[in-house]
Amino acid sequence: MKGKVYLVGAGPGDYKLLTLKGLECIKNSDVIVYDRLANENYLKEANKNCEFIYVGKKSSNHTLPQEDINKVISDKAKEGKIVTRLKGGDPYVFGRGGEEGEILKKEGIEFEVVPGITSAIGGLCYAGIPITHRDYASSFHVITGHLRDDDKQNSEINWNALANINGTLVFLMGIANLKKISTNLIKEGKPKDTPVALINWATRYNQKVITSTLENVYEKSLIENIKPPTLIVVGDVVKLRDKLNFFENKPLFSKNIIVTRTRNENSLLSSKISDLGGNSIEIPTIKIEKIKNNIYLENEIKNIKDYTYLILTSKNAVEIFFDKLSELNFDSRALANLKICVIGTTTEKEIKKRGINPDIVPEKFVSESLFEKLKDILKPTDKVLIPGSKNSRDFLVDKISKICDVKEVHTYETILDYDKKEEIINILDSNKVDYITFASSSSVINFVNIIGDKNLDKLNKLKVISIGPITTNTAKNLNINVYKESDISTIDGMIDVIINDK
Ligand code: SAH
Repeated sequence: MKGKVYLVGAGPGDYKLLTLKGLECIKNSDVIVYDRLANENYLKEANKNCEFIYVGKKSSNHTLPQEDINKVISDKAKEGKIVTRLKGGDPYVFGRGGEEGEILKKEGIEFEVVPGITSAIGGLCYAGIPITHRDYASSFHVITGHLRDDDKQNSEINWNALANINGTLVFLMGIANLKKISTNLIKEGKPKDTPVALINWATRYNQKVITSTLENVYEKSLIENIKPPTLIVVGDVVKLRDKLNFFENKPLFSKNIIVTRTRNENSLLSSKISDLGGNSIEIPTIKIEKIKNNIYLENEIKNIKDYTYLILTSKNAVEIFFDKLSELNFDSRALANLKICVIGTTTEKEIKKRGINPDIVPEKFVSESLFEKLKDILKPTDKVLIPGSKNSRDFLVDKISKICDVKEVHTYETILDYDKKEEIINILDSNKVDYITFASSSSVINFVNIIGDKNLDKLNKLKVISIGPITTNTAKNLNINVYKESDISTIDGMIDVIINDK
């Protein structure tokens, strides 16, 4: 077993600004070592057994010293693990990726580097500032602002050259030294009225940009209380921000919206909110609990040759079934004589990953639609196996049993995720949320069950958006004030309500 390390650039923060290759590394890793600037939501893409190690760096106050980070990475790789070292922006732009690579080389550990979009370019872009422009800047320079006190670094940086070259200057890690930077540039001849932008948390929903001049920027940064992580941009390209600022003009920019979920799938609502510039705070209200030591499932798998049909109605059902199959030393060939039916595209994708093309996938993602297909082809001699959720409806079993033998085996159940209570309360108490959305009655009921009646008044600070009359009614019965209800009961309808709420 040989381990391997991927030094992956996580991009500047916006969730979708990660490379396909970076995502692949995250999905295939045994260990992810990540820092503060890498968007934490990427961890949700990892394997369920993946280990996460936070080595967060806050400027000048490292949570873990670099030597320890190096050691964690190489130790894990030596254990034979696939390690992703996830770093904000690009690993080789002031990310100490070079040093980490050197150590791995020295220790004989195989590694690859996956470049990322650096904040030094992508961050400017989201602030409406093109780093070069034919009329304003014909070069750009990315400089560390992490200046040493001893003047050594000051002399390493050629202030005179920087002040006199007609290119865009981008300082990283520089906010604590903003005064020094602006003074040095002015001293060496850069005009005092050169435009400057400070971009805080670039590309994220909480991006904040202020513009000023070299002469005044320091004062303004104090007034606006600008903290790291911030990019300092010096040059005429800053003037283009008024015209090119697309990100902050998005309809949901800077809106913080809680999305309550009752399914274990990526939420369409969340994704749409992010695309519109908003911050979606996902709160899943349920979790999946696998039934342990499932001898019933084991028995049926051992007798799988007796069956003619296998029905899997969810991604979880597929995962658990195939895990058990391989645990018992079988593989998909054991299913060669079965007709396989699945419901839903996620389920279909999941089974295709196992090299199986399902025989039947009904157009609609419901049991009724599957039964419509089965009712004409099932024969009395058939035998159907349905391994799945304890909470699912009896519909399929009832209907199929009228035609032939059917066996349902519970492999998991969905339960309320009470572990989320503290996290939810913290979010509600943070005073950083504008809206909470409920897309079904069960999401309201689950939510109230988890946080408990006595915390309900915390919702008064937020605007509650309901998808339609049934959900609104449920909320009212639970003493929740619905601020607005969507005209059409769809995800887009809810989004429209928020966009139009001025
Ligand atoms: N490798 C990273 C840079 C690491 S150095 C990259 O390529 O982007 C850390 C500095 O990068 C921070 O102090 C800040 O100046 C800058 N930075 C990184 N991400 C940022 C973001 N989203 N917004 C503003 N500045 C950011």
